[in-house]
Amino acid sequence: MAQQPSSITKKLETKVAIVTGGASGIGEATARLFANHGAKVVIADIQDEKGRTVAESIGSKNCSYVRCDVADEEQVKRMIDSTIQTYGQLDIMFSNAGVFSKSNQLVIDLDFSELDQLFAINVRGMTACVKHAAKAMVERGVKGSIVCTASIAATTAGEVSTDYYMSKHAVLGLMRCASKQLGPHGIRVNAVSPFVVATPLACNYFHMDVEELEKIHQPQTSLKEAILKVNHVADAALFLASDDSTFITGHNLVVDGGCTV
Ligand code: NAD
Repeated sequence: MAQQPSSITKKLETKVAIVTGGASGIGEATARLFANHGAKVVIADIQDEKGRTVAESIGSKNCSYVRCDVADEEQVKRMIDSTIQTYGQLDIMFSNAGVFSKSNQLVIDLDFSELDQLFAINVRGMTACVKHAAKAMVERGVKGSIVCTASIAATTAGEVSTDYYMSKHAVLGLMRCASKQLGPHGIRVNAVSPFVVATPLACNYFHMDVEELEKIHQPQTSLKEAILKVNHVADAALFLASDDSTFITGHNLVVDGGCTV
């Protein structure tokens, strides 16, 4: 059970945050952590039942669920408008929703319809969230923080899953351009890049349960007996979202236990 921060240590008091992909995995852990730190949190996802259950367990005073397919720009825009209508502002966008490759996706037999579907979420969807969050912040003069979930796949090469690796490289390109363009408005844009962490997405992809997945990947890190958990990624997202990182923008914060160093 995560310890409740005291009012002195709450890092997001008075902030309003959107967490895309907040119904599960990294997004769920981050939504909980943001709310524990005093933020009003909107979970935007396409898993309605899970999203509502997570929001209810956080508490209706501090959290709500909105259905939003990030691949549809109109839905992203509506979700941001409704957040501002409900809570009066938008300070933090954690653009985190993403999917893995459906098949091996080797370059020599790449399936373009699979690539298009993955890019629609991981690249276009990520971009729509950054675009409309930034627009809302600029229009209201909010010096907000935008955090995108990339991956170690954003800076490494894959033996498989070409489309996924490409999409995460694109997330860093988006983050860097956005940070340059939005800096003059006082808006920071950063990325968090996790190593493999045992979420439903990763377990399904590798066809392994949590224990097996962690056992196989732990030796690739250089930290003794350290196992990456969603909370470690949520901690990095909180750092980038909060005033603890006021002079940090355009940065890719890798959370990989030294795996890619
Ligand atoms: P997850 O499946 O547990 O959570 C992802 C959430 O995104 C799900 O709730 C899903 O419903 C939602 N989602 C998917 N498509 C969506 C869409 N079109 N619109 C709105 N929501 C959508 O997976 P996770 O591991 O927590 O993944 C979160 C992010 O972390 C992804 O961007 C993923 O690429 C990235 N990531 C994961 C790992 C890992 O090993 N788990 C490593 C590096 C990066």
